[in-house]
Amino acid sequence: MSAGSSPDPDSSTPAAPPFSAAYDVVVVGGGPAGLAAALTLGRACRRTLVLDSAEYRNAPARAVHNLLSHDGTPPGVLRATARAQLARYPSVEYRRAEVRAASAAAPPYGGGGDAGGAEAGPPPGFELRLTDGEAVRARRLVLATGLADELPPIPGVAEIWGTSAFHCPYCHGFEAVAAPVAVIGGTPDRVRLALQLRRMGADVTLCTDGPPGADLAPLDRHGVAVRCEPVTRLESRDGELEAVVFEAGPPLARGAAFVSTRTVQRSPLAASLGCRLLPDGVVEVDDFGRTSVPGVHAIGDMSRRPAVPMPFAAVSVASASGTIAASLLDQDLLSEDTGLPLPFARPPEPGGAGPAGPAGITEPVGAAVGRTGSAGAGAGRTGSAGAGAGRTGSGAGEKEDGR
Ligand SMILES: Cc1cc2nc3c(=O)[nH]c(=O)nc-3n(C[C@H](O)[C@H](O)[C@H](O)COP(=O)(O)OP(=O)(O)OC[C@H]3O[C@@H](n4cnc5c(N)ncnc54)[C@H](O)[C@@H]3O)c2cc1C
Repeated sequence: MSAGSSPDPDSSTPAAPPFSAAYDVVVVGGGPAGLAAALTLGRACRRTLVLDSAEYRNAPARAVHNLLSHDGTPPGVLRATARAQLARYPSVEYRRAEVRAASAAAPPYGGGGDAGGAEAGPPPGFELRLTDGEAVRARRLVLATGLADELPPIPGVAEIWGTSAFHCPYCHGFEAVAAPVAVIGGTPDRVRLALQLRRMGADVTLCTDGPPGADLAPLDRHGVAVRCEPVTRLESRDGELEAVVFEAGPPLARGAAFVSTRTVQRSPLAASLGCRLLPDGVVEVDDFGRTSVPGVHAIGDMSRRPAVPMPFAAVSVASASGTIAASLLDQDLLSEDTGLPLPFARPPEPGGAGPAGPAGITEPVGAAVGRTGSAGAGAGRTGSAGAGAGRTGSGAGEKEDGR
């Protein structure tokens, strides 16, 4: 039975590919979220497979900032260190591979555990098809496939994305304000960002790129300059911004720019499995990373709780979500194998249906949303499910060993 809305492209192939050994958990994604989940699962001696297509969101950046004890470490070094440490755990396997399709598995691949399984309702297990044609199966699935950034259609942004064009003041603001900075865009959030960078000491010009859609008066009060002409391009050399060029008027010499990006799911796997999405295209999860599809967790940038009004994309947050989800998963599998109730089972609906099944995860996440009073699903949208033009963060060219 398929849980996904899109059929497996190979379903009509007469000879099924051989199945490799079954895993407790397959983690799709080798960024901070997936690697952190794998570390917890390895330490719990869970048979775990990490599949990583090596397209990392922060690949263009020279350094990761705002990360305790690793502030300033190149992102590739951070991942390589994590993979080297994972190699200590014999139950964890890491592979450079892209998952092409995922679906709920039919018995005997799915359900049950080493001790015969729970009495009723365990998730069915999952089958994944890789682009090389191999199929793997697992009792649980963790999606850590991340988001991709669509850059604004200004010539020259792509060349400096991550090196002197940024989106996040907490990741790169402290370093960026050493040079004159341009904030590009005329919306209220751009005005706010310009004032934030000014407070940090920057020489800031807001380049509204046409008529502004925000009140600019606060900028004048705090010494932020404004240019309203449409921006035609950014000029740079070796990844460093040199000037913002306008349709009219002189170019503006700048050393860094902050731009707005639109984010989209890097992979269609979550949607194809039927995981419920929030209006901004991020996968809806509960406190433990459980999606609306039993047995499927989503962690890192690609997911959030509805109570959080916007994605909080940071390496520390992504890795923390992996640790939490993996701990829950280990307990979930332990419950399935022993028949013990899951300590983190959701409470029953007041006056309604009984609690979820023995493993406690058979209830869709969304059912819990209303009763916990979570608000704000879709508020403060920052993403889009738009076309993938200009997506960034590919690991192409990144120098990392596979392990
Ligand atoms: C330019 C830039 C700079 C940043 N700088 C910072 C910073 O300084 N500090 C900070 O805290 N945060 C920073 N961030 C945010 C940070 O990059 C993200 O929060 C973090 O990478 C999220 O981790 P993740 O594991 O969820 O996703 P990612 O790191 O994007 O990893 C996604 C993983 O999924 C894999 N994948 C996707 N689809 C498939 C598939 N079908 N099959 C197999 N594998 C698949 C990818 O190959 C990759 O391994 C920055 C972001 C950007 C864009």
